[in-house]
Amino acid sequence: MIITVASGKGGVGKTTCSASLAVALAKLNKKVLVVDGDISMANLGILFDMEKKKPSLHEVLSGEADVREAIYKHKTGVFVLPTSLSLDGYRKADIDLFSDAILDVADEYDYVIIDAPAGLNREMAIHLAIADKLLLVITPEMFSIVDAARLKESSEMAGTPLMGIVLNRVGRDFGELGKDEIESLIKGKVLVEIPEDENIRNAALNKKTVIEYKPKSPASLAFMKLASIIAGEP
Ligand code: ADP
Ligand code: MG
Repeated sequence: MIITVASGKGGVGKTTCSASLAVALAKLNKKVLVVDGDISMANLGILFDMEKKKPSLHEVLSGEADVREAIYKHKTGVFVLPTSLSLDGYRKADIDLFSDAILDVADEYDYVIIDAPAGLNREMAIHLAIADKLLLVITPEMFSIVDAARLKESSEMAGTPLMGIVLNRVGRDFGELGKDEIESLIKGKVLVEIPEDENIRNAALNKKTVIEYKPKSPASLAFMKLASIIAGEP
């Protein structure tokens, strides 16, 4: 199953969520490939300490490497297709090669998780089109929710239904919108609430996902819960 992790608004936690969900699913013995689909602002590789790997998705998208050469196994058991931070690599990358590359390997995994860029651009359209399900990441604030609702609509138009919503950074601000309000605004189910947790930032500073860094932290437990829901396991 291909899951695209997306949001309307930027900076809400897509990369954090993609990486942590991948590690959590691997802990449930699932074979998972996580893809850095944000080819201009590659961040995912950093959480797996793979941002300098070459070939990366850039070389796959420029035709210089086969997709299997750019997939690396992380010590958590997760398979990672990182994108490099190189601007030159970005310039040479042809996003039109993305779908074929991912579909070529997707059957070899239980889950392929695509960490998408923000917004509703051409890249996003491609990420949505190849996905079986959309996982929306939002924070409990108005703009994030309004943008997510639009993204969900265009995803459904592209034939990709919403799997559910990850409500991230709960407890950071006063006056946050509640789960029920959010569900009726987006017309989708909140699968899990991820609390604001400083361990997430500290983990990133150490080039780790929060689950490796602090497996018992509130955010880690929430990501494990999300993985269980997605894998349909208690
Ligand atoms: P996106 O991929 O949507 O741009 P990121 O995953 O890069 O978002 O997250 C943006 C920033 O917010 C990062 O610095 C990350 O460490 C921080 N962050 C994300 N989720 C949380 C959380 N639940 N608690 C604390 N910090 C978080
Ligand atoms: Mg990101």
